[in-house]
Amino acid sequence: MEYYVMTLFPDMIASGLNTSIIGRAIEDGKIYLESVNIRDFTKDKHGRTDDYPYGGGAGMVMQAQPIYDCYQSIRSRLPYQPRVIYLTPQGRVFDQQMAKEFARAEGLVFLCGHYEGVDERVLNEIVTDPVSIGDFVLTGGELPAMCMIDAISRMIPGVLHNEESAEDDSFGDGLLEFPQYSRPEEWRGIHVPDILLSGDHARVDAWRREQSLIRTADRRPDLLKTAPLSPKERCFIENYLANKKDM
Ligand code: SAM
Repeated sequence: MEYYVMTLFPDMIASGLNTSIIGRAIEDGKIYLESVNIRDFTKDKHGRTDDYPYGGGAGMVMQAQPIYDCYQSIRSRLPYQPRVIYLTPQGRVFDQQMAKEFARAEGLVFLCGHYEGVDERVLNEIVTDPVSIGDFVLTGGELPAMCMIDAISRMIPGVLHNEESAEDDSFGDGLLEFPQYSRPEEWRGIHVPDILLSGDHARVDAWRREQSLIRTADRRPDLLKTAPLSPKERCFIENYLANKKDM
């Protein structure tokens, strides 16, 4: 997987992703990450990449020319047509399904906006996927790009080692993950649930599944509508929710 990030702040991307699991994947050559500085492509003699919005209003708008030329310099090096993701609060909201889908791409190009956003004309020319990371507004697209790259990379075979498997993670099976515990067995008088110490893997699995169902019902009941549940599990969760209402 190759990632190209078009940004005015390339250091932010490099410093944000060069550590821990993603840093290791870059070092191992499982993923390739290049931040491309949009400013390097401006034809403005003062190095400007933004200007006032036509029609007036607050803030500055990133201009089309430097972004378009930046994109062309990346595109000319690739033997395939990449998907171009524009990070924007106006995009489709990113989720685990999208992470899985993007992970199948050969390479992805990200465009990070800043200030009031980007001249619409260049967006119409190059962007294939406008994506948001949630219904709030950030100062720039760099953090959203990093979130996406992290989540997508976890889906690429070999990026996570076996012991870090993504299978049990929240959303992996449409539910939130069960609660986790580690040593010591007792901390501040609070004990790890007995069942996790039983060594009975079948019972541990059943307990974890039940905890996932309960946690999802408590925190994200919307997920239960689409989660693939057995009739027995549906029944369990209906009873759980009915009892909760009575309490
Ligand atoms: N004026 C724009 C609007 O109302 O849609 C918001 C511009 S925002 C201040 C600057 C940049 O931050 C955007 O161009 C985008 O790249 C990024 N950004 C802000 N919030 C985001 C979000 N929720 N998801 C993805 N990108 C976001």
